[in-house]
Amino acid sequence: MSEPATSRATELVGNGHPALFVDGAWVHSADGGVRHSGNPATGEVVATVDEATPQDAAAAVAAARRAFDTGPWPATPVTERTALLRRIAGLLARDKEALARLETLDTGKTLEESRWDIDDVVSVFTYYADLMATEADRLIDVGDPQVISRVVREPVGVCVMIAPWNYPLLQISWKIAPALAAGCTMVLKPSEVTPLSTIALTRLIDEAGVPAGVVNLVQGSGAVLGEALTDTDDVDLISFTGGLATGRTIGRIAANRVTRAAVELGGKNPHIVFADAEWESSVDQVLTGAFLHSGQVCSAGTRLIVQAGIADDFVAALVERAEKIRLGDGLDPASQTGPLVSAEQLAKIEGYVELGQAEGAVLRTGGQRPKDAELADGFFYLPTIFDHCDRSMRIVQEETFGPILTVERFETVEQAIALGNDTAYGLAGAVRTSDPAVAERVARALRHGTIWINDFGYYTAAAEWGGFKKSGNGRELGPTGLAEYQEIKHIWQHTAPAPKGWFTTD
Ligand code: NAD
Repeated sequence: MSEPATSRATELVGNGHPALFVDGAWVHSADGGVRHSGNPATGEVVATVDEATPQDAAAAVAAARRAFDTGPWPATPVTERTALLRRIAGLLARDKEALARLETLDTGKTLEESRWDIDDVVSVFTYYADLMATEADRLIDVGDPQVISRVVREPVGVCVMIAPWNYPLLQISWKIAPALAAGCTMVLKPSEVTPLSTIALTRLIDEAGVPAGVVNLVQGSGAVLGEALTDTDDVDLISFTGGLATGRTIGRIAANRVTRAAVELGGKNPHIVFADAEWESSVDQVLTGAFLHSGQVCSAGTRLIVQAGIADDFVAALVERAEKIRLGDGLDPASQTGPLVSAEQLAKIEGYVELGQAEGAVLRTGGQRPKDAELADGFFYLPTIFDHCDRSMRIVQEETFGPILTVERFETVEQAIALGNDTAYGLAGAVRTSDPAVAERVARALRHGTIWINDFGYYTAAAEWGGFKKSGNGRELGPTGLAEYQEIKHIWQHTAPAPKGWFTTD
């Protein structure tokens, strides 16, 4: 990381700069509260960030409401809205290195992964600028030449966007870009664990010239701010990405108020490997699928379902490779994966490993923190593989959100499909085979929102992302990701009005 990128990163979030952005002004929290944001690789404090009060959150919602109801943004011509998105994309690309550094300092992921995230974010702003530019009203032929019937799309209104800590910038950008394109106003709340890159992004949005009140930012604990952000009729849409328990809470509040809610939740994603699958890429991608970002990925392939004939050799190859994964500080180019995000997450993983052993799974590697002295202050945990697992085990059914891979065996295609669907979640899954017919059959039978065939982890801004079953109820990215931020209105216009004569007077 070069010096200019480092100083730019500090400039974007540091030097006592306020972390809340309300009605076009950067402000400190009402009661002066702060939170220290730490580097999970070293335990060092990276920045001190304002912690909003519920009053700050309510002020942000009120600002977004005013900006929507009385401000110019919802009716701003599409060309101007898309121009703003393109300016934001340009600024993100300009500050890519600084943003990547902030993301790594906050999440612990490697700098290389953070750079991918920034590239993704740039592509999402560009994609929605392009998509919005092609939007047109839908004309309907109602069979009467004197009637013009149009279906138009309008911004849904004030959106509250709540994001998790594993992909802070990326997840919130999947919401901001389509919402801005659609003409919405918004309040952003990143995870309290990873506040930095969203401050930087909001500064760039401010620099790009967003009108006051259109984008507002609050920082702090969901438990403290949640009610002010969600339990109010001033909000038209809550877009949430995070865990199932929080998603349920938000869903209940939204249902009670009949507020729109899009919830993107967790996953327990099967990676199915048939005996005829290409060997090297299968071993390689099962490892990456499970252990990239130390498994803190909603679509992590943490449930290996492997055909019995190759299972022993396949697991042996995985164990050998897993033991060579280099853990370390994400800023060190030699590191292949980083730490868990927090002491809390580390304790959760330790609990799941104890549970797996108690449930009778066979621990093949990992199962402990690394012994290296230089990793002692970070929240590192070794890549862990449990063999001979079965569907009755909680480590197979629950999202552990850490570097734990479970292994189950199957014989037939039907068994593979049944195991792949044997989860409450439905976010993503993969099938590996050299038989295209089997690949297609399994891909279509799996009840998950994204399926990879002989690949893992890829997505594109133009294709929808989201979950079946308990992985959520919305879709981000693609045209559906824009539609989430739009209301549909039918306008029926008569060009030659005349009495219909239904209620005759004679
Ligand atoms: P979390 O549910 O604990 O927190 C998510 C966000 O919700 C945070 O900003 C938090 O402050 C906020 N929050 C907590 N309680 C709240 C409340 N009562 N009201 C309003 N907001 C509240 O999740 P996390 O631990 O930050 O993230 C990990 C989870 O996110 C995993 O389950 C992962 O699978 C999921 N995730 C899903 C996707 C996806 O695309 N489906 C992507 C990334 C992460």
